Amino acid sequence: MYSATEKLQKFFNLESERGYDNRAVVGGLDKILPSWEKEALTDGLSPSIIQTISAKLNVYNELSLEGRASTIQEILTMLSETDLSPTGESQTPAEALVSPSQPSQVKPAQEEITVRAKPARSASLSKPHSQGPAVGLNAPLTVLSGIGKRHAQTFQKLGVNTLADLMYYFPRRYDDYSQLKPINRLNYGEEVTVIATVHSASTRKTRGGKLQITEVTVTDGTGFLRLNWFNQPWLEPRLKPGTEIVLSGKIDMYLGRLIINNPEWEPLEQQHLHTNRIVPVYPLTARITQRWLRRIMFQTIPFWASRIKDFLPESIRTEARLMDIKTALKEIHFPESHDNLHDAQTRLAFDEIFLLQLGVLKQKYMYHAEEAKIYQISQEWLAQQIAQLPFELTTAQQRVLTEVREDLASGHPMNRLLQGDVGSGKTVIAAIAVAIVAQAGDQAAIMAPTSILAEQHYRSMLRLLTGHTETGEQLLAPEEIRLLVGDTSSSDKEEIRSGLKEGTIKVVVGTHALIEAPIEFQHLHLAVIDEQHRFGVTQRAKLRDKGQNPHILVMTATPIPRSLALTLYGDLDVSVMDEMPAGRLPIETHVLHPKERERGYQVVRSQIRAGHQAFMIYPLVENNEDDDSERKAAVDEHKRLQKEVFPDLNLGLLHGRLKPDEKESVMVDFRDGKYQILVSTSVVEVGVDIPNATVMLIEGANRFGLAQLHQFRGRVGRGEDHSYCLLIPETEDALENERLRVMTETNDGFILAERDLEQRGPGQFLGTQQSGFSELKMASLSNIKLIEIARNQAKKLFEKDPYLTEPEHQDLSRMVQRFWKGGSGDVS
Ligand code: ADP
Ligand code: MG
Repeated sequence: MYSATEKLQKFFNLESERGYDNRAVVGGLDKILPSWEKEALTDGLSPSIIQTISAKLNVYNELSLEGRASTIQEILTMLSETDLSPTGESQTPAEALVSPSQPSQVKPAQEEITVRAKPARSASLSKPHSQGPAVGLNAPLTVLSGIGKRHAQTFQKLGVNTLADLMYYFPRRYDDYSQLKPINRLNYGEEVTVIATVHSASTRKTRGGKLQITEVTVTDGTGFLRLNWFNQPWLEPRLKPGTEIVLSGKIDMYLGRLIINNPEWEPLEQQHLHTNRIVPVYPLTARITQRWLRRIMFQTIPFWASRIKDFLPESIRTEARLMDIKTALKEIHFPESHDNLHDAQTRLAFDEIFLLQLGVLKQKYMYHAEEAKIYQISQEWLAQQIAQLPFELTTAQQRVLTEVREDLASGHPMNRLLQGDVGSGKTVIAAIAVAIVAQAGDQAAIMAPTSILAEQHYRSMLRLLTGHTETGEQLLAPEEIRLLVGDTSSSDKEEIRSGLKEGTIKVVVGTHALIEAPIEFQHLHLAVIDEQHRFGVTQRAKLRDKGQNPHILVMTATPIPRSLALTLYGDLDVSVMDEMPAGRLPIETHVLHPKERERGYQVVRSQIRAGHQAFMIYPLVENNEDDDSERKAAVDEHKRLQKEVFPDLNLGLLHGRLKPDEKESVMVDFRDGKYQILVSTSVVEVGVDIPNATVMLIEGANRFGLAQLHQFRGRVGRGEDHSYCLLIPETEDALENERLRVMTETNDGFILAERDLEQRGPGQFLGTQQSGFSELKMASLSNIKLIEIARNQAKKLFEKDPYLTEPEHQDLSRMVQRFWKGGSGDVS
């Protein structure tokens, strides 16, 4: 059994003993994910399973007790099934490179091997003919001599099972020996590679005796450099004075001298200097050394890469100016120049995005091909509904409404993502969509990530759907709209369940409780999902499965740069609501110096005096990697503020360690005015409406991305009153404050998101559950230009041959299948 699996089972046992209170792990089960995912990958668990488990555990905290119990059961079942065949799923797309039906690839001619390779090496390249009838890229690694069963097992841990996998096992980085620096020219903070000779080596214990430090001094004739390794005493005998080594690492400073802590190193080989100026450095695992792996690669790649057939049609390669796959694979491992390396990286990154896009397009195409119920409504009816609203729709709302209306009338399932900044008025769009379905007597469901948000939506729906028209008609009676959350009483739950099954309830608003097993609908035709980024792929699919091709509207307040949205949500049609309702006062944003904190408190105080409320946000504390520090910061500050700064006020406290219902009750108390100030960690992020809150004060603002700061800011300014957002960075760092200054210049979430993408990369826009994205090894989602090129090519090809049935697209078709294998194919 995998050790990662075992670990999970232990936690699960504990969790079930505790009655699923999500405290088996300090901070909640999801806290184990980052390290567990790595371990599971090393264990060779299939990425798609790891992803599914992560997705489930990520929302574990939000589930009801029954939901938690069944989630754990599901995961255990899944694990017990995969454990039987640990090698089954971890193959890479590269496998598809070779189609076994084509003799030329199945059987690399034995003589070619010997002709091509030097005699000395030929023996190690391939085992004698008698080993098997033929060797293709799908062949297990054991066909290479030098790799026996044991090594093959080790490789398996890296996800490498076949020759093709090996070929796609890319270097982590490269050492360029043409750029070596002499020791006397090294600078603090640099990442360097140095060739030097060991001068002395010794190991000593620190005073406490806990730490053993191996201190090595090396020289290259221009100077001396000190290296430290911690708790690796076995290194000392390997680093005898006089040994020539290549080492790399980051230059640090200790007592005024330059040192490198825990550098990577290996004995110097002539090959480094002569054969390849740019040398690959591979990610490793226990029992594999850099030198050994590099040798295997060197023996394998050039020969086998030249046997790969390019699955990309030549026209695409020419148009997108891509290197051919043979060269790309050779160059990615053993680059002849930096330019070649760059081109190889571009080609391989293109492949990934291209395959991703082809899958996404197909998904979209297939949804559209399904049939869904047609909802035709008259202009008069719609006008009547809109007339009942207490406000005029914005132009953006009108535009989006038209799009939604057309989707609903199209006869095919709507699959629309509605992106709109906080407060742009998405709810009313959802409400009208619900109204359109309800007027035909059909059912709609709205799912929100937390009870408090569900409750908020529930109230909006009541308000918007039960009003009377001028002629006294009422679309829905209040009892036809129901709220279903974790702590809905079991008798109510039962009633709602049967009402949904029989069709007497038309609209249900709820949390995850909605997608749990016992809920059935008579005929669910519309599913609205709010705050999409909180939900994973599985949740969306589950809700979809509650009906027959229901129309789906997904709403998110996280503005995602357009290029990224196309990739992330490529299977959805995207609507953007880029306009705020008129009369909304812009939120006044200021960046305060740490010294000016008092001024911030004064703003808080004066707003509270005027009858308003304030949020105060605290982030992770520096130099404290322990994930509890965020809570500590908030807890400590809450105490201090309550005692020393605002002793006369009531301060609420919100952090991730609270149970879901405790969190909810703090939010409800704040909403209901029991607290004037809410001190919180970043958990407050989700779209709760507290119109009376007019100050958002954010400490350690430098620690947050602009998009996230913008989300916080969106918590205020939801009422009639002037609101303030105060950003207090931890330091006077000018550059950082410059970045924050953008917040004072724009209230447009999309502009901020674009800036964030430029400055911090795409990580924060991706949930952990982005299926398909785990396959991206080479592509970076911030490479917008490449994404656009790949996307256009994918679209063009798709229009010509959507199901890739043409003979010349067969290799490609196999690649697409491999790429998407395992994932549910649902990208979001
Ligand atoms: P979000 O897009 O963040 O979900 P909501 O739908 O909650 O935004 O809307 C925020 C507030 O704006 C609500 O109080 C809503 O009633 C109000 N609102 C929505 N559309 C308009 C409009 N066109 N004019 C004025 N107020 C509006
Ligand atoms: Mg909302």
